[in-house]
Amino acid sequence: MQSGQSQSEWDGVINGTIVLPAGLVPGGLVLWEAGRLSYVGAERRVRPGLRLLDACGGYIGPGFVDLHVHGGAGADFMDATPEAVQCACSAHLRHGTTTIFPTTTTAGIELLHEMIGACGVVMRQQRRDWGVSTIGGVHLYGPYFAADKSGCHDREYCRAPVAAEFEPYFESGLVKIATCAAELPGAVDFYRAARRRRCLVTCGHSNASWTEMRQAYRAGMRHVDHFWCAMSSVPSIRQRLGTPMQGSMAEFVLMEREMSTEVIADGCHLSPELLEFAVRMKGPDRLCLVTDCNRALDMPAGDYVFGNRQSGTLFSSDGLVGRAAGGGLASAIVGMDHMVRQMYSDTTADLPAVFRMASLTPAERAGVQRKVGSLEAGKRADVLLLNRRLKIESVVLGGQLRHQAD
Ligand SMILES: [Zn+2]
Ligand SMILES: [Zn+2]
Repeated sequence: MQSGQSQSEWDGVINGTIVLPAGLVPGGLVLWEAGRLSYVGAERRVRPGLRLLDACGGYIGPGFVDLHVHGGAGADFMDATPEAVQCACSAHLRHGTTTIFPTTTTAGIELLHEMIGACGVVMRQQRRDWGVSTIGGVHLYGPYFAADKSGCHDREYCRAPVAAEFEPYFESGLVKIATCAAELPGAVDFYRAARRRRCLVTCGHSNASWTEMRQAYRAGMRHVDHFWCAMSSVPSIRQRLGTPMQGSMAEFVLMEREMSTEVIADGCHLSPELLEFAVRMKGPDRLCLVTDCNRALDMPAGDYVFGNRQSGTLFSSDGLVGRAAGGGLASAIVGMDHMVRQMYSDTTADLPAVFRMASLTPAERAGVQRKVGSLEAGKRADVLLLNRRLKIESVVLGGQLRHQAD
């Protein structure tokens, strides 16, 4: 940024390599007007007086889209207050996430309504203050999990879906991603209801068999959460249903082209060969990077609560990842910028592919790709400036500079 200019109003960014889904554009120029992108391409003569940010020879990329995220900077979305929701959204904005889907954990009905309500308050408040909201919608994740695959979520609150409970969540109009374990009674009705509401319908924390996945697919399920974590495998299905051995969630996702999935690329959940396997098997247009980040983001190592501050489950952060009491993983503690750097260094995916997995692919899966997810004229001006090592220098949201690294 030119010295002496501290305003948040800018017209564009110059002097960087633009990262598009189709490739890189060195010597790029990105312009916006009234919060929307108006030009994305090679540098050209611009009218004098335009206020342009300087990318200093780094990268100019799209804001990230996170489908699966629990909190940050000390707050969990399940704390269910507008202050907590705003705190976590702001923390992830600093890590490049400009469209976020606050994600529920397993909990009681009242608390789930409070969380959805708090997200609604923050969406309206952000629109009033900034003209746009970072919240794309709520991810109704818990409580419809299989108890034997609850992971770090409180098992007490795992239950099967019933319309009398879930219809009011959908009636809020805020739920855009809806998860349920496919083997639970009532799962097919839940999937159909979620599809009617145009949600991304997903299966997660599940020990589902091939047959159950096929039924779920027919009812509209198209996505599976954090691949390899809290999901069925051939051995787990053999344990449940005996022989002949049967296909599991893993084979279903890998074999069915229309299915997408996500990886937690924090370097602690999955080794480089698994990240490489996932991207080669599904391709960058069916694989999303998610943070699955909890409240320990940008906080010192120590003990924290996953989910609601009063009623959630305890875990500890060692500064790299969350660990549950028994030593198991308890979700990630880093932002999407970290996931992008890790994926880029751990796999053969090139930068356009890695950015696609953090922006356009999740935007497409959640149905918001016409508004956000890539640098394209007409879309919201959500723009990241990164240095050559992919560290975030500046975050532009809806054409306004919202964060600058010190
Ligand atoms: Zn999970
Ligand atoms: Zn999670």
